[in-house]
Amino acid sequence: MLKVEHIGIAVKDLSKSNNLFSKLLGKEHYKMEEVVSEGVNTSFFQIGESKIELLEATKEDSPIAKFINKKGEGIHHIAYDVADIHLEMKRLQNEGFVLLNEAPKKGADNKLVCFLHPKSTNGILVELCQEIEN
Ligand code: ZN
Repeated sequence: MLKVEHIGIAVKDLSKSNNLFSKLLGKEHYKMEEVVSEGVNTSFFQIGESKIELLEATKEDSPIAKFINKKGEGIHHIAYDVADIHLEMKRLQNEGFVLLNEAPKKGADNKLVCFLHPKSTNGILVELCQEIEN
């Protein structure tokens, strides 16, 4: 894995949290994007090499809505940048980690992503992401 690409934070109200995080970080978000397949609106802040991704549910059965109902707002996942997502998925599966999707899928911010089950990673949902080359 190359670096922590971003930290995903589940929030109830994206516009309120955009204000909060722009005060906290001293800068504005650089993009907002809806990921329809995941039922989320996202907002990204660049912090050096890494990013903060705010996530707001767009529907009741969104994974983010379920997360907030269970645990409240807070850190939802940690995303690691990888050079070759297919290789990393194979490597991690061989190490005994539980992948939540069998093939990489299209995530926010022009990435291919794959998630690892928190039960196999000390309670933290892990995202692998690889930039899609255009
Ligand atoms: Zn993410």
